[in-house]
Amino acid sequence: AYINQLNIQRRQVLNDFLDLKGNIRVFCRIRPIRIGENFGRLRPVVASESSDVVLKIGDNKSKNYSFDKVFHPGSSQDEVFSEVEPVIKSVLDGYNACIFAYGQTGTGKTFSMEGTPDSPGVVPRAIEALFKQAVESNHTFLISFSMLEIYLGNLKDLLFTHPTKATDPLPPRLSIKTDQKGGIEIDNLVAIQVSDFNQALRLYRLGCRFRSTASTNSNATSSRSHCMIRISITCFDALERRRETNKIWLVDLGGSERVLKTKAWGRRLDEGKAINLSLSALGDVINALQRKRRHVPYRNSKLTQVLKDSLGEDSKTLMLVHISPKEEDLCETICSLNFATRVKSIHLGNEDSSE
Ligand code: ADP
Repeated sequence: AYINQLNIQRRQVLNDFLDLKGNIRVFCRIRPIRIGENFGRLRPVVASESSDVVLKIGDNKSKNYSFDKVFHPGSSQDEVFSEVEPVIKSVLDGYNACIFAYGQTGTGKTFSMEGTPDSPGVVPRAIEALFKQAVESNHTFLISFSMLEIYLGNLKDLLFTHPTKATDPLPPRLSIKTDQKGGIEIDNLVAIQVSDFNQALRLYRLGCRFRSTASTNSNATSSRSHCMIRISITCFDALERRRETNKIWLVDLGGSERVLKTKAWGRRLDEGKAINLSLSALGDVINALQRKRRHVPYRNSKLTQVLKDSLGEDSKTLMLVHISPKEEDLCETICSLNFATRVKSIHLGNEDSSE
């Protein structure tokens, strides 16, 4: 009876996703022009309808890209989150989920995910929504919070107290393991049990302070690493028996621009190469899933290893692709839109989720 009830619940959530082709949804957000910023000769990037982006290439040419949703430069954080919220809900309904922000540096990934104190982004809102929905449900939930960074191809725990003196212990090495059911676990990753929204938010702010950020030619405060937040939720039934644990990854990916174009050198060049490699591994995984290949090359990067059980058919995945409205960024914009179009065409398709 319990399995039946779970299946009914799952079907309910799937109904919320009826407009969804496959299990990966793709939203596109166009960054607004900043005060004093130069547009270029023409307005190359336009949101035409709520699900279309039109690129004006040359004088008479234009190209249309369709997504599940397009946010124009004036869209608010509220508007974005109201479309993202069903994915958060699906975690309490028994799914693993993953929301990732993709795009060239400076296009608003961190603005969407982290936001500002006046205009919080997806991460703080998701944490708040999870706690609110958990309180409103009839079940008991145990929620834990972890945060890591992938920098130069290495995993770094953002919640571990990092050594400040020579005598302080070094953080233990994080290693990625697959359990018997194919679920991914990260050995030694700090997971802190949180009992309310504010506690989780404090941890998140603390973790953000430990991120490796650096200045590049593309953007003054660009991040050259992937920042990943994991929220795990264990559900207990009325008899306080542990039912199942699901998780959501909230990921602010490093900038997708091709490293040679950024005029980076030395350490910055290494950082850019590492980001490019892992994003191309993500592209390869997506390609293999799309073509329903038997071998999906998850092992080619830490990023795809960590996300392995959040990109499969039992998970809900949402990609927020960010683009610049400026003419000078057109090449990177086309690359991002092509990548996003490939992601959108994935049909992980079991009976319930395909068209
Ligand atoms: P990224 O993380 O992709 O490198 P950021 O999130 O740091 O980019 O955005 C670059 C700048 O543009 C920041 O100053 C940010 O506040 C601003 N910005 C980006 N998107 C928006 C938006 N939708 N509304 C207002 N400001 C934005």
